[in-house]
Amino acid sequence: METVLSKPRLSKRILEMKESSTLKMAALSRALKAEGHNVISLSLGEPDFDTPEHIKVAAKQAIDDNFSHYTPVPGYLDLREAISHKFKRDNKVDYSPAQIVVSTGAKQTLANLMLCLLNEGDEVILPIPYWVSYEAQVILAGATVNSIPTSVDTDFKITAAQLEEAINENTKVFLFSSPCNPSGSVYLKEELEALADVLAKHPQIVVVADEIYEHINFTDGHFSIAQLPQLKDRVVTVNGLSKGFAMTGWRLGYMGAPLDIAKACSKMQGQFTSATCSITQRAAIVALGDNLEPTFKMKEAFKQRRALMIELLSDMPGVKINEPEGAFYIFPDFSAFVGKKAGDTVIESVDQLCMHILNTAHVALVAGAGFGNPECMRISYANSEENLREAMARMKKCLSELS
Ligand code: PMP
Ligand code: GLU
Repeated sequence: METVLSKPRLSKRILEMKESSTLKMAALSRALKAEGHNVISLSLGEPDFDTPEHIKVAAKQAIDDNFSHYTPVPGYLDLREAISHKFKRDNKVDYSPAQIVVSTGAKQTLANLMLCLLNEGDEVILPIPYWVSYEAQVILAGATVNSIPTSVDTDFKITAAQLEEAINENTKVFLFSSPCNPSGSVYLKEELEALADVLAKHPQIVVVADEIYEHINFTDGHFSIAQLPQLKDRVVTVNGLSKGFAMTGWRLGYMGAPLDIAKACSKMQGQFTSATCSITQRAAIVALGDNLEPTFKMKEAFKQRRALMIELLSDMPGVKINEPEGAFYIFPDFSAFVGKKAGDTVIESVDQLCMHILNTAHVALVAGAGFGNPECMRISYANSEENLREAMARMKKCLSELS
């Protein structure tokens, strides 16, 4: 006899949580590939390069040296010293090793932060487009998102006036990424100064700067908001190895934070994952050392691909683009195609268009709705030039067949 439960088995928390749209598209494209289709996946944001050799050597050595035990919860001290040095060297900010927590990817760093900073009723300001997991994590922590709109015409960047207008007495956190996932936008020093001047007037707000794409920045240089004196002791800088060092599977993220926040996140992590992998941590010390040559080479390759993507997308009527300044994403506006027909079916949203492109052209992208902008789609160009050309040719044909 079937047992009828009076309450759902699963928690409200998980039932109400949105699935990660980036991971969902990656899974859909893997499933289509498994059926034998030639799918080009420009959905998942991860470098297509291999981890640099000197980092792999360090990991192998760590295994041989028996780094096989639990590590301190916030990470090995010598790794936190290396990160402290990195923050000084690259970002000109001072975070002592006690202010650093290493986690299982920057995703966990962010989850720790949201769970440690937010109560019910608190608001987090997110400029649109934002990375998909920010929204899910804020909601999981019981808080709400207060988003600020932008568009392709303003390079997807907010102004100081927009920020000022969005702030209210419930605002607890301002969270943004620069270079931005999904738009590739980079906030320049003057723009960050203008935002910081506004934030300085509201001391209850903690600024969380996600700089995981720091090394994939095509402007004159990366500038960290934590450098600005008006925000002293209020900025958490999040970073990780996934993007700049092609180490997505190794799972290491970290943050520099005011001491009370660092201690809280370490306590939280102590109840969830204890710490990230010991071998990855040993390799991270080497990754964050002074040999950044492979990282610079990857950046150059991404820069060339960006030029290629701009050229190919500029040649597609109806697709509106800007010039992204970093990361390996471009976030074109496809709203001109909404209302067109594929055969007898009306394309009612960019979401639907994204699925149509996947199912007919076998090109996987991520619809913008998950990033807060339902008019755009994210294209990850962390792929070979050959695949990018083929994918864009297929997409162009697919779009031109809409009537
Ligand atoms: N922040 C941003 C903006 C990202 O794009 C990602 C992953 N792509 C992360 C954080 C998390 O990275 P990871 O967990 O791999 O360190
Ligand atoms: N962050 C990457 C992306 O945006 C990887 C997938 C994920 O963690 O969401 O595609």
